[in-house]
Amino acid sequence: MPQIQVLPDLLVNKIAAGEVIERPASVVKELVENSIDAGASRIEIAVENGGQKLIRITDDGAGMDPEDLALSIRPHATSKIRREEDLFAIQTMGFRGEALPSIGAVSQLRIVSRRRDSDCAHEIRIAGDALEPVRVSSGPPGTTVEVRQLFFNVPARQKFLRTAQTEIGHITEQLARIALVHTRIEFRLTHNGRLVHHLRPAEAMRSRIGDFYGREMADALIEISREERGLRINGYVAPPTHSRSAAKWQYLFLNGRFIRDRFVSHAVKEAYRGLMDPNRHPVFFLALTIDPANVDVNVHPTKSEVRWRDSNMLYSQVLSALRDRFLNADFTPTLSLARSESDSPANALPDDGSDAEPGAATGASPEGAATNLSNASNAGLDADDEDAEARRRRIRESMAEFFKRARPVTGADRASRGYGTSREEDRPYAAGSVGTSSGSSERGRASGYAATPRAPLPAPGTIQPSLLDDAEPIPGDSIDAVNPDSVIQLHRCYLVAETRDGLMIIDQHALHERILFEQLSKEFSQGPLESQRLLLPEIVDVSPDQVAVIESHEDTLRQLGLELTAYGPGAIAIHAAPSVLKPERTREFVRDMLDRLADRQAPASTELLTNDLLAMMACKAAVKAGDPLSQEEIAALMAQRPKVERSTNCPHGRPTSLRLTVADLERQFKRTGF
Ligand code: ADP
Ligand code: MG
Repeated sequence: MPQIQVLPDLLVNKIAAGEVIERPASVVKELVENSIDAGASRIEIAVENGGQKLIRITDDGAGMDPEDLALSIRPHATSKIRREEDLFAIQTMGFRGEALPSIGAVSQLRIVSRRRDSDCAHEIRIAGDALEPVRVSSGPPGTTVEVRQLFFNVPARQKFLRTAQTEIGHITEQLARIALVHTRIEFRLTHNGRLVHHLRPAEAMRSRIGDFYGREMADALIEISREERGLRINGYVAPPTHSRSAAKWQYLFLNGRFIRDRFVSHAVKEAYRGLMDPNRHPVFFLALTIDPANVDVNVHPTKSEVRWRDSNMLYSQVLSALRDRFLNADFTPTLSLARSESDSPANALPDDGSDAEPGAATGASPEGAATNLSNASNAGLDADDEDAEARRRRIRESMAEFFKRARPVTGADRASRGYGTSREEDRPYAAGSVGTSSGSSERGRASGYAATPRAPLPAPGTIQPSLLDDAEPIPGDSIDAVNPDSVIQLHRCYLVAETRDGLMIIDQHALHERILFEQLSKEFSQGPLESQRLLLPEIVDVSPDQVAVIESHEDTLRQLGLELTAYGPGAIAIHAAPSVLKPERTREFVRDMLDRLADRQAPASTELLTNDLLAMMACKAAVKAGDPLSQEEIAALMAQRPKVERSTNCPHGRPTSLRLTVADLERQFKRTGF
C-alpha cells in the first residue's frame, strides 16, 4: 500500500480554513468581500454571541443561480479568475475560491441567493461534510450567507475564541478595514439585535473615519493626495499631537484592500521624524492605487501582505507625499519642524514629562548630564514661548493638588525655614534665588558658604508635609541625604542639592512621578483609588476594539477610580476619574491607557497590568519639565524623597537623580593634595 494518500475534501478544506478562518471576524471579512465583489450597494451584518452562534451577511448584489450556488462551496471554485494572467490584473477582493468551502468545513453554512433577473431564490446547506442539494427557497434579489456554530467541529479553534465582546471588537475592526475605503456602500452591523454601526454612503473617507474614530480625529486630519509614476496616494494623516502610544490607528489600503506593509510604515515614520517623539506612533489612513501588474497580491492567504515590483519607488513616493504636505501644514510644532532641520539631540526631548522622555542621563558621565541639562533648557524655553501665564496657572493648580494631599506647613515651620511668604517664588527663575525672606537667605548663606562637605545635615523628612504621611525614611539611603535649605531649581527642570558627600542633580518630573507612583500603589492595594466626579463628562474617541477592552477590564478600571460609559459609536464618556489627575490630563490618560490595554496580546497578569497603568497615571499627574516650582514645592518633593522606595528611579526605570561627590569635584579642579 502506498504511503502517500490524496486527502479527502473535508480535510483539505479544514486545512485551508485553518489559514483563512482564524476567528469570527475572518468570516465577516470573507463574506463582506464576496458581497462587494457581487456589486452590492447595501450590506447587513448580523452577529450573535460574538459570531460564534451566528453570523449572517445579507447583500443586494448580483446573486447566484442554482448551478453557481452548488459550485460556490467547492474548493478552488471562483468566478473571479480563469487564467494565470488574470492573477496580475485582479480587480476583485477575492480570487482564491477558498472562503466558502473553508467556512462550510468548520460551521453550519446556509446560503440563500437570487439573481436580480430571477423570480425565485435558491438555497444550499453544508455542515462539515454533510452537504444538502440545492433547493428552492424564498428571498429578495441578492445573497444571504448564514454561518452558525462556528468551529463546532474544531475544538482547538473553539478554545482560542475570546469573549463575545472581544470577538465583536475584532469584527468591528474588520468592518472598519473594509468600510473606510468602500465609502459608497451602506453598512449595518448589529450584535445580538443591537445596532453597533450604521454607515450611510459617503463621498470621502474622512466621514467614515469620523464614524469609527470620532469627529475630533476626523477634523484634525491632514489630507494627502498625490499621483506620480503610476502610483496614486490618497487619504489622511494625523498631526503629531494625535500620535498614539501603540501602532494601532494605521490603515493602509491597496486597490481597495486593507494591507500591512513595512515599506509604507517606514516611510510614514520617517516623514514624522523630528516632529514627534520617536516612541509614539503616527495615525494614518492611506489608500494607494496602482496598476495591479505592479504588485503581487498572491503571497498571503488572507492577502494582507503583498510583494511590490518597485518598493523603493513606493517608499520614496509615500515619504515625499507626506513630507511635502508637512512643509506647509500649520500644526503647532512649527518649532519642531525647525528642530528637525537642526538635527540637534533636543529633537527627542518632549516638552513635558510624557512617558517617552529619553534616559540620556543614564550615562552618569558629566558630559551626559550636561547634554541633558542643555536639552531641558531648550524644552523649558519652548514652553515659555507658548503662553507663560496659562502655563503658570496650570502648574499652580497641579501643585495645589499635590499639596492638598499633604499636611500643611505650620506657621512655625514657615518662620524658621523662611519658606515663601511671598508669591515671588512662583515667578520663573525666582525659585532659584532661595526665596526672598531673610530667614531663608540667611540659612541659605549659612549652609552655602560655611558648609564643609562633612558638615552634619538636618535629618531628612522633618521639615515638610508628607504624601506618605506615616512613612519612615528608607534606611540605607543616607549618603544621599540632602540639605533641604540648599536645594535650588535650574532650568525649571532640575533640582540641585547639597548632600553629605557632594551634590545631587534631580529630575523633578522623574522624582515626583516615583513619589506619586508609590503613593498610588499603596492606595490601590488598600481599595479603589480616590475618585472625583466630573461636572461634565469628557468624551474620548475610541476604536471598536477599545470598547471591548473597556468591558473586559471593568473591574480594574473601577479600582483605578474611573467610570466610563459608551457614548455612541466610536466614543466613550468619562464620568469620574482618579483625583490625582488634573481634568486636562484625564482624557490623555484614558486615551493612552486604552491604547495600552488594547495593545496587550495575551492577558498579562493583573498585577503587571495595574502596575503599568499606575505608572502611566503617576506620569500624567506629576510636575513636568518646564514647571517652575516654589521653594515650598521643592521642599515637599525633597521631603518625600527619602521616604519612598526606589526613589533613585522613576517607575519606568529612568534615573531620578545624578550624584557628584566632592572627591570627584576636587579631582576635576585639581585640588587633591592641597
Ligand atoms: P472567491 O471570492 O475567492 O471567488 P469564495 O469561496 O469566497 O471565493 O466564493 C466563491 C464564489 O461564490 C465566488 O467566486 C462568487 O462567484 C460566488 N459568491 C460568493 N459569495 C457571493 C455573493 N455574496 N454574491 C454573489 N456571488 C457570491
Ligand atoms: Mg471570496
